[in-house]
Amino acid sequence: MSNLKLPLHTLKGVGNKTEELFQHLHIDNLMDLLMYFPRDYQSFPMPVDHTSQLVVGQNAAITGIFRLRPVNRHFRSMDITIASLDTGHEKIDVIWYRMPYISKNIQIGIPYTIYGRIGEKNNELRVEQPSLHVPEAYIHMTKKLQPVYSLTKGLSNNLIRKTMKQAYDLCLPLPDPLPKEILSKRGLLDYTEAIHTMHSPDTYDGLSNGVRRFSYQEFLVFFLALRMEENGLTKELNHFLFTKDSQMHHVMDCLPFQLTKGQRDALDDLLHDFHSNTIEERLIQGDVGSGKTIIAFLAMVYMAENGYQSAIMAPTEVLAEQHHRTFLKYISDYDLPFHVTFLSGSLKASEKRAAYESIRSGEADFIIGTHALIQDAVDYKNLSLVITDEQHRFGVKQRDRFSKKGIHPFSVVMSATPIPRTLALILYDGMNVSSIRDVPSERLRVKTAVIPDSKRDSAWNFIKKQVQEGHQAYVICPLVEESENLDQENVTDYGKNLQKQLKGIATVGILHGRMRPEEKDKVMQAFQKNEIQVLVSTTVVEVGVNVPNATLIMIENADRFGLAQLHQLRGRVGRGQWQSYCILMNSQKKNKETSNKRLDIMNHCYNGFEIAEEDLKLRGPGDARGIRQSGDSPFTFADVYKDSDLLAMASEDAYSILDEDQELTSDKFSLLRDLVIEKSEETYTNL
Ligand code: ADP
Ligand code: MG
Repeated sequence: MSNLKLPLHTLKGVGNKTEELFQHLHIDNLMDLLMYFPRDYQSFPMPVDHTSQLVVGQNAAITGIFRLRPVNRHFRSMDITIASLDTGHEKIDVIWYRMPYISKNIQIGIPYTIYGRIGEKNNELRVEQPSLHVPEAYIHMTKKLQPVYSLTKGLSNNLIRKTMKQAYDLCLPLPDPLPKEILSKRGLLDYTEAIHTMHSPDTYDGLSNGVRRFSYQEFLVFFLALRMEENGLTKELNHFLFTKDSQMHHVMDCLPFQLTKGQRDALDDLLHDFHSNTIEERLIQGDVGSGKTIIAFLAMVYMAENGYQSAIMAPTEVLAEQHHRTFLKYISDYDLPFHVTFLSGSLKASEKRAAYESIRSGEADFIIGTHALIQDAVDYKNLSLVITDEQHRFGVKQRDRFSKKGIHPFSVVMSATPIPRTLALILYDGMNVSSIRDVPSERLRVKTAVIPDSKRDSAWNFIKKQVQEGHQAYVICPLVEESENLDQENVTDYGKNLQKQLKGIATVGILHGRMRPEEKDKVMQAFQKNEIQVLVSTTVVEVGVNVPNATLIMIENADRFGLAQLHQLRGRVGRGQWQSYCILMNSQKKNKETSNKRLDIMNHCYNGFEIAEEDLKLRGPGDARGIRQSGDSPFTFADVYKDSDLLAMASEDAYSILDEDQELTSDKFSLLRDLVIEKSEETYTNL
C-alpha cells in the first residue's frame, strides 16, 4: 500500500490548523498535495558583485552584512523599516513596508543575501522589500527554478514547498498510473521523475518534459473516461422514421434571409445523419453570429412534423430564455402547429410539474431549457434529437444520461469556439463535424480599437453618442480580484458611475453571476426591449445573447481575456444592420507592449479559426504549462492546440488499452482506473 492516500497531518509540522488550510486548496492527502503544481516558476539571479551593476526597476540579489539594527518608522499610518547593508566596499539602503517585525528577526554582523526590487530615492539606489537568505542557500536557489504556488491565507509558499518535499520523500517510489510500455513508447517521464520535475525543475526545458507527461496523462484519462462511459463504441440503430419535410421548407422559404452556404451544408449534414442507419452525433461549429440557432430550429421543426420531440439545452438561464422567446416567435410568425415547453431549474415547483407532464404526455414538441432537461425527473415521450448549444466543455456528453433512460436521440452540439477540423475530430471523439465558416454577408465588420485606461472618458462619450443615436451598448467588467464579492462590487460601482455620466440620456443596467436567475432574466429582458440602453456586466453575457440593436461593446481589462473569448464577446454586437464597435481597454501596466500586440490581432482578424491560430503563435515558451486563458477546457495543463501530437497519441493509446482490458480491472491499470473514475464524476458535475 503506498503512502499516497495518507492524510496531511502525517507530515511533520502539519497540525490540524494547517491541514484545514490545505483543505481550502482541495488538498486532502499526500497525493493531492503532490499533484498541486506550481502556478508559476521564479528564477533567481546570481548576486551582483557591485552596486554599479544594479538597475532601477529590476529585481536583483546582493550580499552583505547589517552592521546596525534596522530602524522602524511610522509614516502616513504605514510601518516602514529601514536598514543599511554593508557589501564590503559600500553601503546600500534597504527598506521594508508593513513588516516591522523584520527588524527583530535580522541578525547583526552575519552575512545575508537579499533579493528584491531595486528602487531609487534622492538619487540613491535602494533595495525594496527584499527577502533574506543565507548566502549558500541563495546560491543553491539560483541553480533551479523556484516553484510559486497559489496560496490561501495563512499558507506561505515556503510552507507548501517544505511540506511538498516531505511528502515526496515519504511516498517514494511513487506508483505510476501509466503502464511502463506506454511511457517508453511515447518517451514520457515516469511519475516519480515527472512529479519531481514539476515541483523542482532545473530549467524551463526540463519543466516542459514534466508538463508533457501530465498533459498526455490528462488526455489519456479523458479519452478513457469518455469511451468507458459509452460502453464500447457500438452505435444504436436508427429506429426513427422521417417522411415529411414540408413544414421545414415552409420555414426556410419564409425566412427574411437566405441561408449561407455553411448553414445549408450543416443542415444537409444533419438530414443526412437523420436518415442514416445509426444514431449519430454531430458537432456544428461556427463563429459567433454564423447563425446556428436557425439551423437548430429547422432541425427541430423537422422532428416535430414527423411526430417526434426534440430538445435544445443551453448552458445558462439567460440563453435558454432567449431561445425560448426566439422559438415562440418563429412558431407564431411561421404559423406552426407545435407546442413549446420550457424547463429550467428556476421554475416554480408547480411550473416544473406542468412541464414534466407536458414532456411525458407528448404534448411538448419543442423542449427548451437548461441542464434541468437531463435530470432524472424528466421523462420523455419520444425524444429524437437533443441539441446542446454553446458547448464550451469539449467532449462533455449528455448522451449517456439519455441512454441510461433507454432513450437514444440524435445529438447535436453547437459550439462557437472554433477549432481546426482535425483536432475537433479527435476531441469530439466519434462525432461528425460540420464547420460553418461564413457569416451572413450583409453584416458589417465590427470596428475594433485598443485603448489605454487614460482614454476611458472618450470611450464613455462614445457610448453616449451611440445611445443618442438610438442604439445600445455593453460594458464588460471581468473579475478583477479573484473574489466573487469584489466582482459584484466592481460591476455595481462601475454601473453607478456610468449611470451618473449618462444621467438623463440612458438607463444603465447591471448583470453579474451572483444575481438570482429571475433577476438576471429581468435585466436581460429589459435590455432586449431597450428599456435599458447600457448593460454593465460580467461575462455572463458571453454566450449566445442576441440584441441586434446593440452596436457597441466596451471590454474593461481586455488584456485579461483570451482572444477566443474576446472574439466571442465582440460577437455580441454587429448583429443588426448598423456599424458596430468594440473597444478593448488595455489596463496592463507591466507588459503593455506584448498585450497591445496580442490585442491588436483583434483589429485585423475577424475569423474565429484564424484568431485561435494567431493567439497560439504568440504564446511563448515561458508559457510552458499552456494554462487556459478562457477556462473553457476540461484540461488543466494540456493545451489541445499545442499538444495536438499528444492528443492524437492518447486517443490511439486509449483504444489499445480498452482493447486489452475493457473495464480496466487488471492490477496493471488499477491506478489509472481510479483516475478515470474521478474524471467521469467530474464530467458529470460539469454538466
Ligand atoms: P450564433 O451562430 O452565434 O448562435 P445566431 O443564430 O444567434 O448566431 O444568429 C445571429 C443573428 O443572425 C440572428 O439575428 C439571426 O436571425 C441572424 N441570421 C442567421 N442566419 C442568417 C442569414 N443567413 N442571413 C442573415 N441573418 C442571419
Ligand atoms: Mg448561438
